[in-house]
Amino acid sequence: MTAQNMIVAEETLDPADWSEARAVAHRMVDDAIDHVSGVRARPVWQEMPTDVRGTFAGPAPENAQPLEAVYAEIRKNLMPYPMGNVHPRFWMWYMGAGNFTGALADFLAAIDGSNLGGGNMSAAQVDRQVTNWIRDMMSFPEGSSGTLVNGGSMANIIGLMAARNAMAGVDLRQQGVDAMPRPLRFYASDQVHNCHQKAMNLLGLGKRSLCKVPSDDAFRMDLRALKAMVRADLDYGERPACVIATAGTTNTGSIDDLPAMADLCAEEGLWLHVDGCIGALIAIAPYHSHLVAGIERADSLALDLHKGLQAPFDVGCALVRDRKTHRQTFAEDAEYLQKMSRGIAAAEFLHDYNLDTTRGFRALKIWMMLKEHGVAKFGRLIDQGIAQAQYLTGLIAREAALELMAPTVTDVVCFRFNPGWLEDGALRDLNIEIMLQLQEAGIAAVSDTTVKGHHCLRVAICNHRTRCADLDLLVTEVLRLGTSAT
Ligand SMILES: *Cc1c(COP(=O)(O)O)cnc(C)c1O
Repeated sequence: MTAQNMIVAEETLDPADWSEARAVAHRMVDDAIDHVSGVRARPVWQEMPTDVRGTFAGPAPENAQPLEAVYAEIRKNLMPYPMGNVHPRFWMWYMGAGNFTGALADFLAAIDGSNLGGGNMSAAQVDRQVTNWIRDMMSFPEGSSGTLVNGGSMANIIGLMAARNAMAGVDLRQQGVDAMPRPLRFYASDQVHNCHQKAMNLLGLGKRSLCKVPSDDAFRMDLRALKAMVRADLDYGERPACVIATAGTTNTGSIDDLPAMADLCAEEGLWLHVDGCIGALIAIAPYHSHLVAGIERADSLALDLHKGLQAPFDVGCALVRDRKTHRQTFAEDAEYLQKMSRGIAAAEFLHDYNLDTTRGFRALKIWMMLKEHGVAKFGRLIDQGIAQAQYLTGLIAREAALELMAPTVTDVVCFRFNPGWLEDGALRDLNIEIMLQLQEAGIAAVSDTTVKGHHCLRVAICNHRTRCADLDLLVTEVLRLGTSAT
């Protein structure tokens, strides 16, 4: 084939027939509305049959087929077998149920197609406005900076990397960790999320640099123990650098004593990073905002918008109090990324504030959701989840065979079925069986954990579709399954 012939055969990914594409796209939107509005009538989860599983094992298709046929396969083999977190009775881990406006926004973001690495375009304005909104919702000062990332783990990495570089005592970006005069020490409670261990690994500090401070009976960091550890490390010639407070622990939803930790960090000259992936947004919840008072004093803060704001996955946010420190941690020059005073590159590069270069237009879903519903409604929904957790706690207290395993402070409830005569090991097996049967029957999805050495079921009500009647059903079913197994 000559070059001339190739040009005659020019192709594109655009549809050959836009009216056909339009018809399929309209059908997708109609089906999507049925899918979301009908979610309650479906099982929370169902096991994928072997033949369906097999359809995902074939090789990459070499040749074309109509979009229509591809979509038919999605309807048949994909949509009936989701994780289940959009369902009103999904309470595993700590997820978020998504929402329809957010889904439309993800579509529109892809249609706009801008790269949020930076540039002079409306998408970058939306990104900046959304990070400023989050900053204001968290009462961070005007001069602070923020960046939208894929989730809480990355948001924590952004904050901890800024902390590391600010506290290293050398030009860490230039010299690397080997040049640090003294090893850095980070402190977090024994309830800290495991993404901080990954962060220590990534930051070249190693997990040993993350000192686990014991937690008290309310699963909050024991601050006397923290002080003693900081003292001991100083005496030993190490460099205490950063205290990681958790506002909403994954195990039990407990919230560290943020004001006291902010005081301690101020006294000792330490960086305060708050992992607020679960609890930071309680700051906008009128009845419970007091629980996270003091969070605005953090040097850096990680929050998860696909949890607290129920945005479709994925979107998290890191805030850093000192914009200059934030930028210095991440900004690098490149001859192929020159800023201009006019045109498309006439703007600050947003990738100067995180580890990505290319970034999708995540900001649009937050922007649309907040415009449509208003911040106040999201605050009320967070209050609603906490109130529902208290409702469930009340139901548990009324049943002799149910045992609350941790105080309920936010929207996480830890409990177990305990008929009263079984050992811990047998109780563990029994409760795991209850959990799996609830999932397999598609009734409800709860997860499990171990608190203070005891296994238990864990219900995280980060779900705007949950109703109290769903929690009534959960209790009824746990009692039924537990009783029939003992
Ligand atoms: C969920 C969570 C994370 C991780 O966030 P992702 O969005 O899953 O990456 C970190 N810390 C806490 C406390 C969490 O609950």
